[in-house]
Amino acid sequence: MPFTTGKIKALCFDFGNTLIEFGPKQVARQYSVLERTLTELFGSCDAARLKIIRDRQIAAPLNNSCRESTLESLCSELIHEIYGVTPEKSHVDTLVQTRYESFVNVVKLPDGVLSLLNKLSGRYCFGFLSNYPCGRSIRDSLKKIGLLNVFKTIVVSGDVGYVKPHARPFETMLSQLDFSPSECVYIGDNWVADVQGSKKMGMNSIFTTQYVPYEIFKPAKGDFSPDARINHLDELERLMLP
Ligand SMILES: [Mg+2]
Repeated sequence: MPFTTGKIKALCFDFGNTLIEFGPKQVARQYSVLERTLTELFGSCDAARLKIIRDRQIAAPLNNSCRESTLESLCSELIHEIYGVTPEKSHVDTLVQTRYESFVNVVKLPDGVLSLLNKLSGRYCFGFLSNYPCGRSIRDSLKKIGLLNVFKTIVVSGDVGYVKPHARPFETMLSQLDFSPSECVYIGDNWVADVQGSKKMGMNSIFTTQYVPYEIFKPAKGDFSPDARINHLDELERLMLP
């Protein structure tokens, strides 16, 4: 492993598919809740079209200089593209609330995560950085699973305006942790957002493949390699508490 654990001060975590499972099953459940709400508001909803639009919206920041959207603009766009109408604010608000609730509902704390974090917290400070357009959804889901108070800082792309791998969200987290990048390890499942983003900042990177991600990125020529790879979060105990 290229970094020396004795020099590391902070462990920084991604959320989906790193601390919690957020893969195809969770995304499909969210899409079905959206479909139900849209049907109630506007009548029959084309589920295949909904999936195409949402999949495009999920990938959109990477094609737009890492600019993050808001839940409001995403929901407004969804209604407009499926039904061909300019939505009223009340309809957008209803859909935003649906997305918020379905996200918080779908988040579950896997067995072992809390005890692992308890062990690691004796030695390390924790940071948190997630790509998601809504900070409230992330904070309330962390609260639901009992993790809201374990992090020194919680940074969400929706609050920063840029998604990982852009430097801005990493800089925001690092400035609040007050450690140099080389003193921090970022643990994430996304090759582009997490591994390339953190390595570009001068941080150390651990790539986790515990869960099936919704988006899969293949390594490209010239990409940074992670400093370590794990198949399960529990392996952090062996790596970081030798
Ligand atoms: Mg992730």
